Amino acid sequence: MASIRSGHPRGPYFSVDLHLHTNRGSSDSNLAVADLAERSRAIGIGAVCITEHDTMWELREAPALAQAGGVVFLRGMEVTTDMGHVGVFGLDRYVGGIYKLSELRRVADSTGALLVANHPFRYKLDPRFSFINPDHEPIDPAYPERAAKLAIFKLVDAIEVLNGACSEEENLFALKVARCLGMPEVAGSDSHSMNSVGCVTTLFDQPIGDERALIAAVKSRRCRPGRGLLQKSLAPFDLPS
Ligand SMILES: [Zn+2]
Ligand SMILES: [Zn+2]
Repeated sequence: MASIRSGHPRGPYFSVDLHLHTNRGSSDSNLAVADLAERSRAIGIGAVCITEHDTMWELREAPALAQAGGVVFLRGMEVTTDMGHVGVFGLDRYVGGIYKLSELRRVADSTGALLVANHPFRYKLDPRFSFINPDHEPIDPAYPERAAKLAIFKLVDAIEVLNGACSEEENLFALKVARCLGMPEVAGSDSHSMNSVGCVTTLFDQPIGDERALIAAVKSRRCRPGRGLLQKSLAPFDLPS
């Protein structure tokens, strides 16, 4: 597909930032909604997904944003669960009990929602950060097939293998785990400020116009992680050959 919105006029991709926070719904963000709209247009991204912590934007708020011009705005949420942060698409609101990932899975199955293991290995590979994860031994990056057996991956539909706030090692390891499992691979900037919006993106071969199209495309693995949109050199993110 050739599209100006892809940010890569001669390229085949429709790029979507699947993960970002605004100061409208995430107290740790300083990204204003108006700035997000303006920045999204400027960088030529196809769509952005607003994924606040544990809260979903009201449906009536989204159309006004979408009309801000040229960029599709999609609603999601980043739920803090007992197994880590999980990106959710296709729920209308936060539902009590979904802090347990098993319950979130049950709710998602009843609505056809999509669940993404967000930044699953952030701070988990380096023993210096193990104090942040007191329940866990650091994961040995030499063995992605062991990490692939973690319970979280039985309860989600896709893995965020490229997160704009993770280290290269954490992202590459997540990608190896996704390859072990044959699961869909997505990317999101995890922006909390304007400059990083779109620094990494999920690449689709067709335009994504709403959450249902997004869910269908990811579940059927018609997507891949990418980066370089901001440098006008958009390319898939892959394991070094
Ligand atoms: Zn997170
Ligand atoms: Zn986040």
